[in-house]
Amino acid sequence: MQTADENAYVIEEFRPIRHDILAAGLRAEAGDPHRIAGDPRLLAWLRVEGEQIGVLALDEAAAAAERLSTLADFTQDLVLEKVFADGRSVTWPRCLDRTHGHPMVVALDDGRALWRCPRDARLVVPIGELEA
Ligand SMILES: [Zn+2]
Repeated sequence: MQTADENAYVIEEFRPIRHDILAAGLRAEAGDPHRIAGDPRLLAWLRVEGEQIGVLALDEAAAAAERLSTLADFTQDLVLEKVFADGRSVTWPRCLDRTHGHPMVVALDDGRALWRCPRDARLVVPIGELEA
């Protein structure tokens, strides 16, 4: 059962991640909230470039930064696994240091949800604030 409130909640929760994917030139959205028996989380479909690529799970009970980092983690896993451009998997989000070939990783630091370079912990950007 999908309610208007759940739909608005999913869109709002996904907003920072949508922004960060858009910074990479891809359109993404989360929608069609639903629940399955035995899972207390709210589930939603992730679409990238109009294509459903997987299911996101939102833990409404967690603290805000934790919710955001978890959602970013889920999204990143799906994007790295399922999104291709010109036959190659997409590196998302690209490291702030463009000479690094790797994507950044999700980190929780002092109550903030961040993207962080896996090699240089000084390279960080809050999730939702990536620039193109
Ligand atoms: Zn890096």
